[in-house]
Amino acid sequence: MGTIAENINIVRSGLPQGVELCAVSKFHDVDTIRQAYDSGQRCFGESRVQEFVKKFDHLPDDISWHFIGHLQTNKVKQIVGKVALIESVDTERLLYVIDEESRKAGVVTRLLMQLHVAREETKFGFSIDELKEFFINRKYENLVATHICGVMGMASNVDDEERIREDFRLIYSTYREIKEHISPELCGFDMVSMGMSGDWRIAVEEGSTLVRIGSAIFGPRQY
Ligand SMILES: *Cc1c(COP(=O)(O)O)cnc(C)c1O
Repeated sequence: MGTIAENINIVRSGLPQGVELCAVSKFHDVDTIRQAYDSGQRCFGESRVQEFVKKFDHLPDDISWHFIGHLQTNKVKQIVGKVALIESVDTERLLYVIDEESRKAGVVTRLLMQLHVAREETKFGFSIDELKEFFINRKYENLVATHICGVMGMASNVDDEERIREDFRLIYSTYREIKEHISPELCGFDMVSMGMSGDWRIAVEEGSTLVRIGSAIFGPRQY
């Protein structure tokens, strides 16, 4: 593996214009994140509230933080106003809590609805039918302090490239169906977050606008 800066450049050079890179910095310390920051990276992803709020205070204000992990409703308050995007909204209840906490804090929180298509049972997220139903029933109409910017999803954790591609196609086609047919009046619904270290090239071919890459930039995580 190269240096962090080199790794970021390799990923960047493989991303078409308009596809954003979120450097997933979970389990990496502030000094490591700063190396990426110093090479120009400004978007970072974290998956645990405690860890994120600790790092947040020690890093520059112009970082755009994405929360990408499972979020418990009782912890929402701690991250609202600090995160640029919550990518992992996996239940309606969580969405309404984020809306309420954002309203109280006087901010608007941008977020992505997490879709579960991977064939692992442990992954969080809405099923395709649940998510469509959410939009068909216009359940977003009463939101006052959140903006639904798109969807996030993960492919099955397998080696089979065709299966990974199928998962990304499902995520992308669900997004298109919502955007074009179910809720065409939604504005700013234009993000499709998919692709990690092992599969981001496939994700980009299948329509990703935002990749979340950790180990290919920072090396393996020490859990
Ligand atoms: C950890 C994580 C990533 C990054 O995974 P890598 O394989 O290290 O690139 C991306 N997305 C989510 C939701 C994650 O939890």
